[in-house]
Amino acid sequence: MSPERLVPHNPATGQPLEPVDCTTPEGVREAVARARTAQRAWANTAADARARQVRALAQAIGDHADALGRSISEEMGKPIREARSEARSIAARVESFVRAADQALADDDGVESGIRMRVRWRPLGVVGVIAPWNYPVATPSNLLLSALLTGNAAVFKPSEYTPHTGALLHRLYAETLPEGLVGLVQGAAKVGAALVASDVDMIAFTGSIATGQAIMREAAATMKRLVLELGGKDPMLVLPGADLQAAARHAADEALRNAGQVCVSVERIIVHADVAAEFTRRVAELVRAVKPGDPREESTAFGPMASARQRDLVLEQLADARRHGATFVVEGQAQEPGYYLTPTVVTDLKPEMTLVKDETFGPVVAIQVARDVEEAVQLANDTRYGLGASVWGAPGPELDAVADRIEAGMVGVNRGLSTAAGGPWVGWKMSGLGYTRSVAGMRHFLQPQSQARRAE
Ligand code: NAD
Repeated sequence: MSPERLVPHNPATGQPLEPVDCTTPEGVREAVARARTAQRAWANTAADARARQVRALAQAIGDHADALGRSISEEMGKPIREARSEARSIAARVESFVRAADQALADDDGVESGIRMRVRWRPLGVVGVIAPWNYPVATPSNLLLSALLTGNAAVFKPSEYTPHTGALLHRLYAETLPEGLVGLVQGAAKVGAALVASDVDMIAFTGSIATGQAIMREAAATMKRLVLELGGKDPMLVLPGADLQAAARHAADEALRNAGQVCVSVERIIVHADVAAEFTRRVAELVRAVKPGDPREESTAFGPMASARQRDLVLEQLADARRHGATFVVEGQAQEPGYYLTPTVVTDLKPEMTLVKDETFGPVVAIQVARDVEEAVQLANDTRYGLGASVWGAPGPELDAVADRIEAGMVGVNRGLSTAAGGPWVGWKMSGLGYTRSVAGMRHFLQPQSQARRAE
């Protein structure tokens, strides 16, 4: 029987790309078994020797940034300059991962009631890494690097929308690291589910809430460890005293980056009534200047959406907002060939609109007006999501106090969020379970073992 196939499409043209064979259930089992064998030697390799190999891998990914960038661009439509810098970002990040892993692997020691307690942090074994299409190099690499630096092996499933990029990336892992240590399986939900049901010890997943829930259900049978990095509905609060031009720039850039297909994109702007008119005018001016282009061109900053499905989901949300009385300040248009959707700026939003309730994975600047700071905070928190957020206003304790009240895992104050200086990449509420980066994030990839001895 011939295997099932994936047929990715070029979002700039709508044309099909080379098909890719899906991995069979037997192939999934074999990849996991090979990874398990390789993991034994890897776990016994000194952490600094593992780190050397992972650094070489990050370097190799950076050295192949041109090819990876072209592939990302071709499969999901990201403008080539951003696609290349996505590939380069791994080498820039690897040292902070190495540092966090080193600290995470160190024993914890303590003495109490005559007992000496040593907590050892041991690798889990094999981690199934399941990735989305929007950052098809950076997102799986964040999870894979975490797994590898903590002594685990991995089996990687790229998104069905970016299988060629996944294969190219995997080749670099396979060429740089011991044989079988990182396996590759290709396919859509069925293959992902087979990986979750397989003999892996942990699933590290980035994707939508619905898939995260399916993985949690499936993983319950064998009590697999989980890290789930899910979707967001990130609010940006703009308050009196804010530098309105800087805030408008941030809003336009971060709502439209990657055609709005970023988990931490600016999804809801909640602007104080006193500055709403001026802020909206400035944002609209910036957004009107954005011109869609061919993602292969160096000059393009705004490309197509990744798939017809994504574009149609966003168009449905915009139609729903229109039915509920939203005002369109700038009206986005679907453009062919390909899956282009030009940017929208929309205001007069109501809580019942899907544009307000659900993640909008597309180029929409959605503006809500709040009477006062109290209402702004209440609107920001009135959501099941809690990934990122930012607050903009006069710097000082009052603005810091607003940041403290936001129910999001990552908050920027007069800037975008960041995980610099060892901060975790973390969601709150339904935006995630467990987290990555930081020492505590690395420890999600390790099993603590308490060893008790009589204190000498
Ligand atoms: P998705 O959930 O549809 O798919 C993600 C991956 O899961 C794909 O590889 C898919 O094949 C696989 N999958 C689907 N069904 C499965 C199942 N039943 N069992 C196992 N695997 C399964 O998400 P997507 O559309 O690829 O990505 C967009 C989503 O990812 C958005 O919600 C976005 O916010 C989120 N995201 C989150 C972060 C973060 O760091 N929190 C980063 C990037 C993207």
